[in-house]
Amino acid sequence: MLLMSVETTSFQAAKMLKNLFSSNPPSSHKVHYQLTSNELLADCLNKGQGVLSDTGALVINTGQFTGRSPKDKFILRDEATWNAINWNEFNIPIEPKFFDIIYKRVMNYLDNISEVWIRDCYACADPTYRLNIRVINEQPWGNLFVYNMLLRPTEKEVENFSPEWCVISLPELKLDPKECGIPHSNASLISFKHKLILIAGSGYTGEIKKGIFTILNYILPHEKKVMSMHCSANMGEDGDTAIFFGLSGTGKTTLSADPKRKLIGDDEHGWTEENIFNFEGGCYAKCINLSEEKEPEIFHAIRSGALVENVVFFPGTNKINFEDASITENTRVSYPLDYICNAKEPAIGNLPKNIFFLTCDAFGVLPPISKLTPGQAMYQFISGYTAKVAGTETGITEPRPTFSACFGAPFMPLHPAVYAHMLGCKMQKHETNVWLINTGWTGGPYGVGRRINLSYTRAMITAALENKFDQIEFNNHPVFGIAVPKECPGAPSDILDPRSTWVNKDAYDEKAKYLATLFVRNFEKYASGVNEEVLAAAPNL
Ligand code: ATP
Ligand code: MN
Repeated sequence: MLLMSVETTSFQAAKMLKNLFSSNPPSSHKVHYQLTSNELLADCLNKGQGVLSDTGALVINTGQFTGRSPKDKFILRDEATWNAINWNEFNIPIEPKFFDIIYKRVMNYLDNISEVWIRDCYACADPTYRLNIRVINEQPWGNLFVYNMLLRPTEKEVENFSPEWCVISLPELKLDPKECGIPHSNASLISFKHKLILIAGSGYTGEIKKGIFTILNYILPHEKKVMSMHCSANMGEDGDTAIFFGLSGTGKTTLSADPKRKLIGDDEHGWTEENIFNFEGGCYAKCINLSEEKEPEIFHAIRSGALVENVVFFPGTNKINFEDASITENTRVSYPLDYICNAKEPAIGNLPKNIFFLTCDAFGVLPPISKLTPGQAMYQFISGYTAKVAGTETGITEPRPTFSACFGAPFMPLHPAVYAHMLGCKMQKHETNVWLINTGWTGGPYGVGRRINLSYTRAMITAALENKFDQIEFNNHPVFGIAVPKECPGAPSDILDPRSTWVNKDAYDEKAKYLATLFVRNFEKYASGVNEEVLAAAPNL
């Protein structure tokens, strides 16, 4: 019965909505369709929703939410998703009854607001996998974010555009939790059945981006045999591709912007039989402590057209104070991919030669660079260890160790084994090198040591990409078994062995053992699903 009502009301209406605004806009709405970046900028400024920085970037405030809210993200549970989705703390089901109620609230709200900004765009740079999306925003800056981040169809393509998915983002809509069967007044809902993403009550633009990422992490592996990955990617002059997996704050965006290599993308990619391709058309970089000296490419991308979120100006000026975290640690900027001067167009690269797993280890235990065997690579991928650092998620203010399968559990609707199996097959087939990079602490844990110098991390990655470690000896780490190089061109040798950077060696050994225990405990739930080689890659207690 309840499913029937979703069928007859929401589904029909969703289908209608997808065609509604471009062909026959309801007279009550002022529909702004497919505005240029400049027009959106003008709308924001006219409405007092943003201010221009001294470099011409639009600075806005996203309101109450300045980070994702994973506990308020739901997937419609119906016959199709019941068995396919790996229901867990990130993939939280919402029943058709409540989806239907929220859907009606959204439609009703849309009927009663005076303006909407609509944009047709697409995801997936490889035309074979292109996914057409229509996004409806309540505010012009939300639509500018979509312009920056998704792929931009040509004018001709827009004429015959047929949207397959629809995203509706309504930051000002507060839902009644009791009526809607949700814990708070904000929610992100995904319905694979209606091909619809509804975002209510949060203006954090990352919700839009990660909502689309979540559906692709279902569609591509489940329906198209393409591995989807939470990683950045770039390509060297002779076409060698590198990908960088990592959870939030580990350095995907920072490290993929490399003046000597072409940027393919900073966050979300697919890996097919022939290539890797970006899902997106833009980057979403952190701004906290951004400096021209350390991150020149990102720094110079902050100009007209870029959308900067939740930063503060130096008093009496329009100059951004990148050190100011008074609104949030998670200050962000979105810009089209080609704002980075050496962007790859189209954003497609060769099969990767090197894979980097980035971890921000706040214990200061893992070496800054190490080489992994195939078994260790699978073990690390399934574990997905890092410390959550302040920022991207609401409520995190200091580093906290976390394990997030496939370096992206919050966005993976399928069981981690699905993605791990795909990666394992690909790594084996292509004999890809896999490196573990600790972009976190050295010389002691958080509070004692410090974060490793970015220029050293860059040097280590460059050395790996240029095959410089071929001539260098390695030692196996006593607890983690991973191969640690004795030297690295461009970086001091005495930082390579983490133990030697700690004043108190006993304290290091103890922390290493503790971290190993966390790995082993976390892996228990996966142990029965992996082979001997992967099991043997567990740290040595
Ligand atoms: P998200 O998934 O949230 O976009 P991300 O993996 O892209 O996260 P970055 O935006 O690259 O992460 O964030 C890394 C942050 O850490 C940047 O602010 C960067 O300046 C800082 N940082 C400091 N030291 C290092 C280092 N050694 N390597 C990489 N990043 C570092
Ligand atoms: Mn990033």
